[in-house]
Amino acid sequence: DLLISQIAAGEVVERPASALKELVENSLDAGAREIRVELEEGGIRLIRVADDGQGIAADDLAQALARHATSKIASLAELESVASLGFRGEALASIAAVARLGLTSRTPEAEHAWRIAAQDGALGAVEPAALGRGSVVEVRDLFFNTPARRKFLKTPATEYGHCEEALRRAALARPEVVFELRHNGKVVWRLPRQDAEARALALLGEEFEAAARSLDEAAGELRLAGLAGLPAYSRSGRDAQYLFVNGRYVRDKLLGHAVREAYRDILHYDRHPAYVLYLTLPPDQVDVNVHPAKTEVRFRQAQALHGFVFHALERALGYART
Ligand code: ADP
Ligand code: MG
Repeated sequence: DLLISQIAAGEVVERPASALKELVENSLDAGAREIRVELEEGGIRLIRVADDGQGIAADDLAQALARHATSKIASLAELESVASLGFRGEALASIAAVARLGLTSRTPEAEHAWRIAAQDGALGAVEPAALGRGSVVEVRDLFFNTPARRKFLKTPATEYGHCEEALRRAALARPEVVFELRHNGKVVWRLPRQDAEARALALLGEEFEAAARSLDEAAGELRLAGLAGLPAYSRSGRDAQYLFVNGRYVRDKLLGHAVREAYRDILHYDRHPAYVLYLTLPPDQVDVNVHPAKTEVRFRQAQALHGFVFHALERALGYART
């Protein structure tokens, strides 16, 4: 019922940025090559995510908003293995319980799009709609029916900052996908399909180009690529620590430590360096099921990995000494 859904929503939807993150992940899961995000009042009034993904058939629209409805898992065993990856079929249902949600979608075969709306957990009828392709999810007035939650939202400017950061992580993780962000009617970014380095410069500022070293190191099945910012960039007041493990944004103490140690050793810099790094390793070497928020991971061979990252950074920064 609605109350249970609202309680469950607390796990998934803490603020506009967490709803946005779920919606963008759904678009990426649907194979989107373009994702357009529109926010009003920091996402509190409106979060709209439009994609050109595979869409949802009319018959499946209501199901997509039901709790524990996911099209991504075929069996119970599969469910257990990915239960905390976010494939829990809860995001849309949770958001629908605490906001006014509209879902419009069109599959390639369909003659036109269909739309369903939900409010207070109650679904409206599936009705014909106009949309070229893909899906549009609109989330209005987050927490309008849960005032206790709404009270914990910060100002629109602060919530906007969290939304922008969530989208920046997705855009850095998937540079081959076109991203657009609008806030209160103004275009904030328009990012074409590009390579990882160009995407990083677009999001961290062109000044990062002059003040960063690129690296691309491999050892066996490990690979670390990306950009390591020089202290000059961080000193200009810019803060940016982005680490992606197999395409997923991660905060990791061990790897953060390896990076900082290299900066300390080579550049005698002991603050917060800026970096955008992509680590790839065999999936069985990393356990992503540590935390439902999915920014923590656990590595099988932590020490070896620490050494690999440390030395890769040392070599990249070594060229920067002069
Ligand atoms: P989950 O992503 O864990 O499956 P969600 O509640 O986030 O659960 O989404 C429910 C279902 O709705 C998905 O499994 C998917 O089938 C469908 N869906 C949601 N968003 C989109 C989208 N942008 N494009 C296509 N299908 C979508
Ligand atoms: Mg989802």
